[in-house]
Amino acid sequence: MKNNGLSHEKPIIIWFRKDLRLDDNHALHAAAQTGRDIIPVYIREPSRLGTGPLGAAQAWWLHHSLTGLEKALKGLGSRLILRSGKPDSVLSELIAETGASTVHWNRRYDPDGIAVDSPLKDTLASAGTTVKSFAGQLLHEPTRLKTGSGTPYRVYTPFWRALEASGEPDQPLDRPDALVSPTKWPGSDTLASWALLPAAPDWAKTFSDVWTPGEEAALERLEAFVEDCLSGYKVRRDLPAADGTSRLSPHLAMGEISPARIWHATRNLRDTPTEDVVTFRKELVWRDFSYHLLFHNPDLPRENLNRKYDAFAWSGTGDAFKHWTKGQTGYPIVDAGMRQLWRHGTMHNRVRMIAASFLIKDLLIDWRRGEAWFRDTLVDADPASNAASWQWVAGSGADASPFFRIFNPVLQGEKFDPDGVYVKTFVPELRDLPAKFVHRPFEAPPSILDAAGVTLGETYPKPLVDHAKARDRALAAYSKIKDAG
Ligand code: FAD
Repeated sequence: MKNNGLSHEKPIIIWFRKDLRLDDNHALHAAAQTGRDIIPVYIREPSRLGTGPLGAAQAWWLHHSLTGLEKALKGLGSRLILRSGKPDSVLSELIAETGASTVHWNRRYDPDGIAVDSPLKDTLASAGTTVKSFAGQLLHEPTRLKTGSGTPYRVYTPFWRALEASGEPDQPLDRPDALVSPTKWPGSDTLASWALLPAAPDWAKTFSDVWTPGEEAALERLEAFVEDCLSGYKVRRDLPAADGTSRLSPHLAMGEISPARIWHATRNLRDTPTEDVVTFRKELVWRDFSYHLLFHNPDLPRENLNRKYDAFAWSGTGDAFKHWTKGQTGYPIVDAGMRQLWRHGTMHNRVRMIAASFLIKDLLIDWRRGEAWFRDTLVDADPASNAASWQWVAGSGADASPFFRIFNPVLQGEKFDPDGVYVKTFVPELRDLPAKFVHRPFEAPPSILDAAGVTLGETYPKPLVDHAKARDRALAAYSKIKDAG
């Protein structure tokens, strides 16, 4: 909508970050309500600042997400200004160019984001700019819930109970119908000049087989999930071959949909069993819990929460790490997961746990290497959920799975992918093995391997380690730190 001369007040800059949506966007909604000129901006922040740089898979997502946001803003008669640089310089320049007097943003809760936003708020305020920050990225602000003794939570179940008892999250806000544009727009980078997409080779070309980034797709996905998949979620969520989960995580990671919108979409569903709704909400609340942990333990992605793990003897080799990243460990469920990650930038949650356990406990490789690999390769890479989950598997985190609970990749595969459908999708060289051996090809008789065209060590790797021996080795390493601190 063009400025019709009625909006005499100075413009408001909306700084989009990991909230690339119009729906339930508190910062945008409040700005739109004022009737003032609005200048939507996305800043590509330099390395180690705020949201930048993203991993390679998420950079692909960002390109498409920004394209979608730009289109949606055009639909409201507005635009999206793209700028690169340190947010304090970029915003000061924009304020000088446009005469804006106010900046709105939705709060971020990761330490890199906070390290940018807190001083920036003061800098802008002392230069006479009004800064308003808003909630909405989580169901509840990470400072809101506290234990009876006033400390942050470290155990999930009481956190969940407190969240449930604290009432429904706020009703999501509708998207604005129109935004008032300034009479003159400031200059913008082109998205193409940011080169977010991989070029040669285009390793992300298979991502679009399963993903459509952007707010519109996120809302459609939510509706389809609630209608078709939420019933039965409790059981099907653990089956990697089933379309049993919401697949909303990359949309949430980029803020294309709000958790409140998701929560409220699961209310008053008469035909959906309550246990499915509650199980799903509990997963959504793991995201809030992860942010609660990160907010109160900013070193979560870098340091063991339980410091006794600092003395753990990680003895795994770089070669073993490479085999793991390439899905060449000889354990089909692990390899299928790691190859799903290459092909689609994602991995089913159950398989993430198995693959992470294998790296940490079978290969004795520091969880931080796995965390960094996932950060670069997942389209849903999230500073809180990724770090909290890796520490959960390692046993070093809050409310973590105990170290001695070591996943057996064969039994896990047989339990959750009994027919080997998931394995065969991503490890096609095992396609013709009977289900009985698909998770343990190394135990198949030669005649069966021959008939399936499998030659271990040639068409498919022999196991990198013997799981039973690796388990003993891991427990021996753990026994050295078990009684410390
Ligand atoms: P659904 O089952 O539909 O769950 C709904 C939403 O709940 C998800 O979109 C997600 O936002 C949240 N959620 C579900 N499980 C978890 C969990 N365990 N922790 C935190 N939030 C959860 N999730 C990420 O979003 N980003 C990550 O970087 C990430 N890294 C992980 C690393 C490891 C080693 C493990 C074991 C898990 C990780 N997860 C991560 C959690 C989980 O695997 C994904 O959130 C889930 O697979 C996303 O699929 P979905 O959207 O279909 O989930």
